[in-house]
Amino acid sequence: MKRFALAGNPNCGKTTLFNCLTGSTAHVGNWPGVTVDKREGTYKKCAEPISIIDLPGIYSLSPYTPEEVISRNYILDEKPDCVINIVDATNLERNLYLTTQIMEMDVPMVIALNMMDMVEKQGDKIDEKELERRLGIPVVKISALKGTGLTELMEKAFETSSKERKGKTVLEGCEIYHLISDVRIALDGQNVANPLFHAIKLVENDEIEVQMHSTTIKMVDEFKQSFNNELFGTDFEALVADARYKYISKNYSPLMTKKEKGVKLSKSDKADKVLTNKWAGIPIFIVILFAIFHLTFSEDLFYLGSIFSLPTLEDLGVAENFGTALLACFYDGAIFSPGVILFNLMDLITSTVFGWITAGLESLGAAEWALSLIGDGILGGLGGVLSFVPQIIVLLLFLSILEDTGYMARVAFILDRIFRRFGVSGRAFIPMIMGFGCSIPAMVNTRTLADERERTLTLRTIPFFSCGAKLPILTAVAGAVAHILGAGDGSIISFLMYVVGMAVAIVSIILMRSTTQRGEVSPFIMELPAYHAPSFKGLMIHLWDKTKHYVKKVFTIILASTILVWFLSNFNWSWAMTGDINDSILASLGQFVQPLFTPLGFGSQLNAQGWVFVVAAVTGLIAKEEVIATFGTLAAIFATAAPEIAVEGATDVMTMVLGTGITWPALIAFIIFNMTTIPCFAAVAAAKGETPKGKFKWTLLFWVATSYIVSAISYTAITMFASWSLWSILATLGIIIVSVVAVLLIRNYNKKHPVKGVK
Ligand code: GDP
Ligand code: MG
Repeated sequence: MKRFALAGNPNCGKTTLFNCLTGSTAHVGNWPGVTVDKREGTYKKCAEPISIIDLPGIYSLSPYTPEEVISRNYILDEKPDCVINIVDATNLERNLYLTTQIMEMDVPMVIALNMMDMVEKQGDKIDEKELERRLGIPVVKISALKGTGLTELMEKAFETSSKERKGKTVLEGCEIYHLISDVRIALDGQNVANPLFHAIKLVENDEIEVQMHSTTIKMVDEFKQSFNNELFGTDFEALVADARYKYISKNYSPLMTKKEKGVKLSKSDKADKVLTNKWAGIPIFIVILFAIFHLTFSEDLFYLGSIFSLPTLEDLGVAENFGTALLACFYDGAIFSPGVILFNLMDLITSTVFGWITAGLESLGAAEWALSLIGDGILGGLGGVLSFVPQIIVLLLFLSILEDTGYMARVAFILDRIFRRFGVSGRAFIPMIMGFGCSIPAMVNTRTLADERERTLTLRTIPFFSCGAKLPILTAVAGAVAHILGAGDGSIISFLMYVVGMAVAIVSIILMRSTTQRGEVSPFIMELPAYHAPSFKGLMIHLWDKTKHYVKKVFTIILASTILVWFLSNFNWSWAMTGDINDSILASLGQFVQPLFTPLGFGSQLNAQGWVFVVAAVTGLIAKEEVIATFGTLAAIFATAAPEIAVEGATDVMTMVLGTGITWPALIAFIIFNMTTIPCFAAVAAAKGETPKGKFKWTLLFWVATSYIVSAISYTAITMFASWSLWSILATLGIIIVSVVAVLLIRNYNKKHPVKGVK
């Protein structure tokens, strides 16, 4: 397999590029004898698979640091098929200094001109064609962060790797060039590989070279006796370095034209004065987030219903027919939010169509089991989920708008300022916020995080940023909580649940940062793009993609698992249909694990039907929508089997609540459990792909432990507070004090025992 090595200065974007190229194939180890990371992975999109090696970041090839020695020896001894020299285009001069040294080796080489997105954003220009001509080495413009130019880069590298290249130097006009040239000829005569590189290092009086070529060094020493430069004396190393910089600034630097910087504040800058203000930034973010959730979830858009107690349609005495049912999608004692209106419309459509299907089947005289399978199982389950699709889309629409306008980038910036001291950089918040849509692309996005530990903790906390598929759980269960409490609609509870998810993420990051994932926070430098209106077409394409994704999921995975749930809840262990759901296979499996969930409020304290909550949570591992689909199926079966439990007009979750006697604090614990536990299969697979080999079990354990502990604490705390007493206050104070002391002790311990090998 061909091997390409990535070489470049620290922070030039090597790791970012490496992660983009190799994705889940990356393997991290150590270079022999030192604790410097050695990353290897495979690039698969060329004509043949290519092994990519991320060399340590270096400024030069002198032998002063282990990183420099590793990189130098790797290129000289292991002879990669091509060196991809990454050059940070925003720092051209300093980066090309290393380039001029790698050039001197006899190795195929291409230059990846990275950070081109930043250069372009600043309005600067680089004439890369001319740079390529002057260097005599292919130059490809890329942005490792945006993933642009990578295919072209790899094709160029692939093409270059099959041609031999002789070392070249920029020192030809230098006053000691004839010495370099003589030494090179001498080394050539000794059949030394890379003669030009070794000759120059020897002239520089490089420690390693002097030991290796003890006879040839005499030639250099002799020359030195008759030489004296007025500036550097006989310090050839300084002389050579100076010659390199002079050459670069004369020949390469002028190829970059900087844009004249204006002084006037743009509109975007003015907006940023407010939106990213030190004090106002976070409150504004929370208000925006709340507004989004309000527009998505609220059943009282303008709070008119709660202020004036407007009449419901029933109060107005309107007759029940399809027309008023349609009206009730928009108004019923209050004007609904757009999200809820769409939910209601979808619900009306599905229940009407499903009603026709069931009626049709009945009139055809379908068997009872078939009616149950189709009516209760499939339609009950799918109906529950389908109604939520429009609401998920509304939420995604708002989040896409925030992203496309450039506001999300600001959020990362604001959060960076606060959470940096707790060990998280703003860069990590970008994938986390993406997690509100779907965890999978968010997890892939963590590749842009350079630090392995930061990446691990970001991956682990992404599911806590509740994804679109968890929205039905939140809304439906929060609605039931609000109903029990007799407190308006569930929209505020849903919003609070999102906030709880974020809080759990932040607390667990702080804990991981001070225990298993210790390390320095990587710097967060980001060019804030100017605000701009999102393109309508762009948004629509985005939403269509998502809608397709959810609808496809409903008719494949959810449909299949719903049928399975129906089957398991209608058959007993002797494979016969049972009339009593509590005798079913599903019930016995559920009852078996149910006691485990007693500390969470939905375990043994519930009545005979209590297993349904545990079962629903477990089916959530298939897809998070399945939690609500399971409720739909089971509620339908309940309603048929035990009509005394079913209440006219009750939601699926309310049927469950009435049937099991679950309390509202337990319902909240149930939401939190689903939100923080192992995500769906697809997200687990994505996370596994992004985690170094053998480490993934810890992430799984982390999810299980966090969800269990956080839900148990929430259940206990809320139950206690619901019956507020002196003991509950003392107990809570005690818990807070113990946790604070524990964190302080850990921090103190870590200060005294810093981790080695962390940059
Ligand atoms: P390394 O030290 O060479 O491995 O560099 P990293 O991959 O850690 O990147 C350093 C920083 O530069 C990170 O914050 C990256 O997100 C950022 N970065 C890398 N490539 C690009 C790019 O193409 N454009 C921009 N704007 N930032 C980049
Ligand atoms: Mg790196």
